[in-house]
Amino acid sequence: MNIHDSEKMIGLLSESGYSAIANPENADLIIFNTCAIRAKAEQKFYSQLGRVKILKRKNKNLKIAVAGCVAQDARERIFQKAPFVDYIFGPQNIHKINDLLSKNQDIATEENRDIAFEEFTARRQSNIKAWVSIMYGCNNFCSYCIVPYTRGREISRPSSSIISEIKDLARQGYQEVTLLGQNVNSYRSDIGFVDLLKQIDAFAINRIRFVTSHPRDFSVDLIHALSKLQSLCGHIHLPLQSGSDSILKSMNRGYTYKEYIKGIELLRNRMPNIAITTDIIVGFPGETDEDYLYTVKALKEIEFDGIFAFKYSKRKGTKAFEMSGQITDHIKSERLTYILSLQEEITYKKNKELEESVQEVLIEGPSQTDTLMLSGRTRSNKIVTIPNSSEVTGSLIPVRILKARRHSLDGINAALETALTSE
Ligand code: SAM
Ligand code: SF4
Repeated sequence: MNIHDSEKMIGLLSESGYSAIANPENADLIIFNTCAIRAKAEQKFYSQLGRVKILKRKNKNLKIAVAGCVAQDARERIFQKAPFVDYIFGPQNIHKINDLLSKNQDIATEENRDIAFEEFTARRQSNIKAWVSIMYGCNNFCSYCIVPYTRGREISRPSSSIISEIKDLARQGYQEVTLLGQNVNSYRSDIGFVDLLKQIDAFAINRIRFVTSHPRDFSVDLIHALSKLQSLCGHIHLPLQSGSDSILKSMNRGYTYKEYIKGIELLRNRMPNIAITTDIIVGFPGETDEDYLYTVKALKEIEFDGIFAFKYSKRKGTKAFEMSGQITDHIKSERLTYILSLQEEITYKKNKELEESVQEVLIEGPSQTDTLMLSGRTRSNKIVTIPNSSEVTGSLIPVRILKARRHSLDGINAALETALTSE
């Protein structure tokens, strides 16, 4: 979400003559687009902020802006720690960026539900894959989470505006679109989420993804859409957070483990090969060994294709911040380490099941680790590397999976292989 917000900012700034450069030492403007989800992300920002102070001493015209969730949450703290900051604006006030820059020093952190009606011309990082916001904010107030306080109440973009943005991306030749929202299942404007998906499915975009779905609002209609609509990719990110019902309750997640599992079963009954990924938090206040073991059991039982796992991080202003039973960092680290190593084995096993299968891969460019190889993703969102035989970036090719690794798959262009063997 932050990456796409940055794309929107760059789009707006290019209208007033700015362009992005690689080296901050040559910049006239540096924007920190911050994340407040965990303390670590916030700390990283503060340490980077210290570095640009030196640049400002060298270049008197340099302006520093702080955007994103830390800007929204901690504007006083930012000015206290770094009085050299010129502008502070929150996620709901991105569109004001050019106005702010016309002032000497300014702040824009007021609530702005009209953000959903803004039309942004994002300057996208990729010309193959695009993010598209379909809604802003969140109403869920999970007890650990800062997002509802920084991104405001949930509001959906009108479907006509989303559809015209995607039509435009299709015209430009984009192959993949990911619809973005904190809880896409609760998208509701003039139409609901499943109807939106049906309308989007009609355009010439090969791959549609969406993130994130909330297990509480996961419906049979959505499962049906996933199995029927051609453009929807066979992958869903469905954050479980914990396998313990008492922790889920105190997290205010609105579902039990049994209800979560029921959704997974319905999904897998209809789409046995669907990839499912999740988010897990360990060390939530009050998490006993028994609660934690329920999460371990859940991972073994469900066998996710991948997980993002985090140590619970105290966020001031949230309900969980005040809760008794805070867990020591040592225990959180132990629990996280075990869960990550368990999941590595499960992911490897799931990847192994794909050996010898043929997968559609969207080629994204040279591999980051080996320039003789190309890298892309399957519809299930797994990274695949193939030998570079001049496949065009942005093309969709059939790939035979030769070897599973823990975090990726090795393959070969199956069309090329067939052509070679028939010669
Ligand atoms: N809206 C999405 C949802 O409900 O699944 C995800 C939003 S959040 C940006 C991504 C993940 O960060 C959450 O699923 C959760 O696992 C994690 N997270 C949020 N707040 C956290 C906290 N205080 N400590 C640790 N992890 C946290
Ligand atoms: Fe945070 Fe929960 Fe909203 Fe996700 S659904 S953004 S975890 S409050």
